[in-house]
Amino acid sequence: MIQPHRMMKAVYLHGPRDLRVEDADRRDVAPGTVAVDIEYTGICGSDLHEYEAGPVPIRAEGTDHSIPESDWDEHLPKPMGHEIAGTVSTVGENVEGIDVGDRVTLNMVAGCHDCRYCATGKYHLCEQGDGGVVSSRGFADRIVVPESMAVPIPDEVSLRHATLAEPLGVSLRGVRRSGLDSTDRVAVFGAGPIGLGVVAAAAAGGAREIYVSEPRAARREAAEALGADVVIDPTAIDAVERIKRETDRVEVSFECAGTATTLTDALRSTAYGETVVVLSVFEEEVSIHPNDIMQAERQLVGSFGFQGGPLASRSEFATVLDLIGDGRINPEPMITDTVPLDGVEAAFEDLRDPDSDQIKVLVEP
Ligand SMILES: [Zn+2]
Ligand SMILES: [Zn+2]
Repeated sequence: MIQPHRMMKAVYLHGPRDLRVEDADRRDVAPGTVAVDIEYTGICGSDLHEYEAGPVPIRAEGTDHSIPESDWDEHLPKPMGHEIAGTVSTVGENVEGIDVGDRVTLNMVAGCHDCRYCATGKYHLCEQGDGGVVSSRGFADRIVVPESMAVPIPDEVSLRHATLAEPLGVSLRGVRRSGLDSTDRVAVFGAGPIGLGVVAAAAAGGAREIYVSEPRAARREAAEALGADVVIDPTAIDAVERIKRETDRVEVSFECAGTATTLTDALRSTAYGETVVVLSVFEEEVSIHPNDIMQAERQLVGSFGFQGGPLASRSEFATVLDLIGDGRINPEPMITDTVPLDGVEAAFEDLRDPDSDQIKVLVEP
């Protein structure tokens, strides 16, 4: 039987729009693991998609949201929260690189370390394990993880900003997947946290000019603060026409909204022979015209998660911490609220409201 002092609170998803703060056991610190007292955990767009449409990797009854062909073995209720920053409170035996008191953010993409993808450091593409990130219990005051997942935070970076390393790593990977060159003009469709991170990473990468199409005014303002040159309200004017008129089509575009319209707009705003990167989680199948790809010789490129970890050839996760540390990315305009654990469900509801001004909400457990 579990003793009362062994319990803590954590947030679990039981199904679409069914989120509960529940008792959870306080896990022991096994050899090779560290316990982290969590200061902040960000609410991710992927958390919202799962809240809305059901867990991505779980073939839950009544949902159609699973990744085709995924072998992820998860079950409901599913713990939530993976954009985590905090302070190490306990280290297990055989932990060598991390000390008690170290400030860390967590790279929750663990991988199975056994499949063809993990063997080459592409843990984010692991099909065998649960990918780590999908079963992370970060909406809680404490988490125990393998030492390898704890990434030290540079002195210049606050815990508040370090929480953004995870979504910004996703955005930076998208920018790298685009092959962005410093002479390129960029269009970003959708200025949620990932789209805004793309704006920040593209600006840090020296993009010549950045266009952003986003219906919410608060998000357009944040995009400007993060480096957008032109912001467009697509409910007021035709974003594709505006971009075509001013640029004769951009060299690189990013689909960060997850709709059929924004995917087609991204394709048609992009010059022939150039690249569109898809970063969104789509909640359903959408149709596009393949001739927008074929006839224009455009490349449609997927980008998922980020690289990081022992064998990764490059680490977007570590790089964004450096970019925040040296001031090339300031994520502050993305953070719009901080809520306690009991406020998580209300924050989810607020974030899914199309009229809300919230962008990135941090949970402070
Ligand atoms: Zn995330
Ligand atoms: Zn693997």
